[in-house]
Amino acid sequence: PLTTADLIEDHRICVCVRTRPLNKKELTVKDLDVITIPSKDVVMVHEPKQKVDLTRYLENQTFRFDYAFDDTSTNEMVYRFTARPLVETIFERGMATCFAYGQTGSGKTHTMGGDFSGKNQDCSKGIYALAARDVFLMLKKPNYKKLDLQVYATFFEIYSGKVFDLLNRKAKLRVLEDGKQQVQVVGLQEREVKCTEDVLKLIEMGNSCRTSGQTSANAHSSRSHAVFQIILRRRGKMHGKFSLIDLAGNERGADTSSADRQTRLEGAEINKSLLALKECIRALGRNKPHTPFRASKLTQVLRDSFIGENSRTCMIATISPGMASCENTLNTLRYANRYV
Ligand code: ADP
Ligand code: MG
Repeated sequence: PLTTADLIEDHRICVCVRTRPLNKKELTVKDLDVITIPSKDVVMVHEPKQKVDLTRYLENQTFRFDYAFDDTSTNEMVYRFTARPLVETIFERGMATCFAYGQTGSGKTHTMGGDFSGKNQDCSKGIYALAARDVFLMLKKPNYKKLDLQVYATFFEIYSGKVFDLLNRKAKLRVLEDGKQQVQVVGLQEREVKCTEDVLKLIEMGNSCRTSGQTSANAHSSRSHAVFQIILRRRGKMHGKFSLIDLAGNERGADTSSADRQTRLEGAEINKSLLALKECIRALGRNKPHTPFRASKLTQVLRDSFIGENSRTCMIATISPGMASCENTLNTLRYANRYV
């Protein structure tokens, strides 16, 4: 089969998959690994190797992406092939976007690095921080130094179609579109940052704000999209923007048959935004004139990231290796594969 890269013009879109090791919970219930990465761009979903029973549950399925990262890969490695090339884009006056897409518990937050709660200590080495580190390194290069760029950060979440500022006590914000189709999140806090440590502090602050008052951090984050942005400005004017997005758990899109009305509505909203996102990314790759930005708050807010000559996107689809997650994993792989 053709690879995604074969069909995507200019390599403006990169789609990759990352699996993780079976976790304690999965090992406790004796879940079995059904994922193999046989080469650097192929993902196989298959019968567990450990199974002795000859009944077939699973048909072998193979998917090809730009990159496939196995369960030994580090955030630094994933970053190097996904978000790292996009750092250049924002210095060249472009818009860059990096999404983590996948089931709850598959490793989106681990990869992006937006978790300062409890045991996940990898946050300082997640993609948010790694991208920030390289932005500050690039600023020192003579070419860019002479531009006298300033760096700002924003951090907000989209929950049930509403925008909340994570750097301003979760203030609910309005989204306005002017006559020239410019989208503005009114009152969104943009904080100037001078070094990676400044960025880490903001992420920590935003994360604690994100989950405060919630019964469970994961229950909440699975239903909301978190957007962290690094903005370069030159004499006050936007020069480039890097949006790093930890999406809501894609399995939540199936909550539309839940008995609870609120859960149903949230599920429908998540479903709508993930479908719109797919359409917008696909349009970016093919220079389609009509892109359904307005179909969801997520795509509306990210509108300027999908247009323009110099926009680039990468999607990191994270998957859980267990047989119990198989259905969600296949959904994730199919979604990510659809860009072809
Ligand atoms: P999500 O944000 O997709 O719901 P998390 O990032 O919170 O998932 O990951 C769920 C759990 O799995 C966390 O405890 C996290 O530390 C762990 N985890 C995720 N990815 C990896 C990985 N690549 N290696 C080791 N542990 C991981
Ligand atoms: Mg998460």
